[in-house]
Amino acid sequence: MTTWHIIWDRHKGLIVTIFSLGFIIMAWYSGKYGRSELEVPFYLLAYAIGGYQKAWEGLQTLIKEKDLDVDLLMVVAAIGAASIGFWRDGAILILIFSLSGALEGYTLERTNGEIKSIMKLRPEEAIVLQGNVEKRVRVEELNQGDFLLVRPGERIAADGIVREGYSSVNQASITGESIPVDKSTGDEVFAGTMNGQGALVIEMTKPAEATLLAKIIHLVQEAQSERPPSQLFMERFEGIYAKIVIIGAILIAVLSPFVLGWSWDETIYKAMIFLVVASPCALVSSIMPAVLSGISNGARKGILFKGGAYLEAIGNVSVVAFDKTGTLTEGIPRITRIIPYGNYTENEVLSIAASLETWSEHPIAKAIIREAKEKDLHLSSASKLEAVPGLGVQGIVEGQEYRIGKLDLVGGQKLPNEELKVVRKLERQGNTVIFVQGEKERIGVLAVQDTLRSQANESIKRLKKMGIKVVMLTGDSSSTAQIIGEEAGVDQVYSDLLPEHKVDIIKNLQKSGKVAMVGDGVNDAPALAAASVGIAMGAAGTDVALETANVVLMADDISKVSYAIALGRRTTKVVKQNVSFAIAVMFLLILSNFFGNINLPLGVIGHEGSTILVIMSGLRLLR
Ligand code: ADP
Ligand code: MG
Repeated sequence: MTTWHIIWDRHKGLIVTIFSLGFIIMAWYSGKYGRSELEVPFYLLAYAIGGYQKAWEGLQTLIKEKDLDVDLLMVVAAIGAASIGFWRDGAILILIFSLSGALEGYTLERTNGEIKSIMKLRPEEAIVLQGNVEKRVRVEELNQGDFLLVRPGERIAADGIVREGYSSVNQASITGESIPVDKSTGDEVFAGTMNGQGALVIEMTKPAEATLLAKIIHLVQEAQSERPPSQLFMERFEGIYAKIVIIGAILIAVLSPFVLGWSWDETIYKAMIFLVVASPCALVSSIMPAVLSGISNGARKGILFKGGAYLEAIGNVSVVAFDKTGTLTEGIPRITRIIPYGNYTENEVLSIAASLETWSEHPIAKAIIREAKEKDLHLSSASKLEAVPGLGVQGIVEGQEYRIGKLDLVGGQKLPNEELKVVRKLERQGNTVIFVQGEKERIGVLAVQDTLRSQANESIKRLKKMGIKVVMLTGDSSSTAQIIGEEAGVDQVYSDLLPEHKVDIIKNLQKSGKVAMVGDGVNDAPALAAASVGIAMGAAGTDVALETANVVLMADDISKVSYAIALGRRTTKVVKQNVSFAIAVMFLLILSNFFGNINLPLGVIGHEGSTILVIMSGLRLLR
């Protein structure tokens, strides 16, 4: 019973088509072998079975939304043909129409299937360790802080940190990168990724609904319901156009006998052909299959588009702006120098700095805290901590007020010559210099250095080769920014920017074309939102970045930016090809109907054939 249900559900279109074909053959057979009284009943069955579904849907649109569905036009054309005795032509119309509907269903299922497969990655159950007891529980019942045992070859059920064991994990489901990544104590693991040879004990750090995988699934679902502007236009156009076709058909039916001298039967027949070939089915199918294929192609490569609109938009981008810290650079800076002033020691400066950075999610803050922890320094509890975006942090540590960050934040006064020399030298070496300022005096400076991502250079070169201008935006000081910018090979560097200045630059760049902004969401979320296409780093990015961006790079792999643009360009090209092909075929068929001599079945084959061709052409983007 259930298997039949499944088969029926999945292949309904095809089964209906086959039955419809069967009745057409029987009708034809009866006519040929002298049982002509059975011909019409068999054709009626073929019509009813093959056309019932679409007719019903079309009627509902007509009644509920007071809108015309092109499918309904097909059914009307078939009935019209039958009314003048062309039963067979009408039946073939229904047959081909139903067949193409089934094929369409299969092809669209392919694009949806790619996306749905992501959702199947989340395991249903996990093994929780309670003391020495292993207990199998459903994923929904897991709690943050639970220790989970992940056996070799099992999918990881939650986002967490490895507490015991050693293994390599294939994270392709999340990052699109299929080379396994080594994981040992302290490393982060993600739900939906595949454990390799070793067993791992992980501590669950995020509730099930907040895992990276859950976010991806949410993004993907959002992407599917979001239609690009071209599709929205097409849908609005479809309703109006269908009415024009009907009026056209009526005009043909009323006027042709007088104007062109056709007989009434010929007129009705040609009007029905017109109804079929002028319907914009191919046009309507020109866009969504292509766009959905593009989206799932991206998803497989670790590029998540939040909607078809962004796939189209990214193909038209002429400038790519990269944020520096955490985007072009790895965002895991090392402390290279600590210079204490006055009576302070290195460790005192570091400890105060780390206390100030307790709550900051800036990569520099994390570096400072990490360094302090490695040196086992005591961190004082800080109060009134306040981030000053793009500049640093201020707050109170042990009763004293401090500021940490750029020179502008710590007073902005001119540096004494001695100090200036040291700072400039550090900057020339590619360091970012962080000042730590107390109530009365400066207590020291820290130099941090971040390495360029290994793919940065290659990626930027590829973008330039595609004719795209590449710029870097950063809140860092100009000398450090210049050095990193040169190393990365960008066309232009904008430095010393506060978050709102990044927005201004993006808006300025947009005057001459579409701009994509790539960032991690730390101090650049407003710029991500302002850009024509905001691209966020997936793993390194903040939640804000994931929310504001239009495209997410799961593996933080910036080389995917050029892939995404190329994919966008290809999609736009395929859509344009499809639309012009669909229009060309439509015109050709309309003209041959008037001036040539095509019959209804031929018109239907041309019409449905072009619809299937544009869908298949869209599917090319899966590759
Ligand atoms: P980017 O644009 O390169 O990502 P940001 O705008 O995040 O850089 O920060 C700009 C500059 O502000 C940093 O180079 C650093 O000097 C300073 N800064 C920002 N946040 C902090 C912080 N939490 N601690 C210390 N310095 C900071
Ligand atoms: Mg940043």
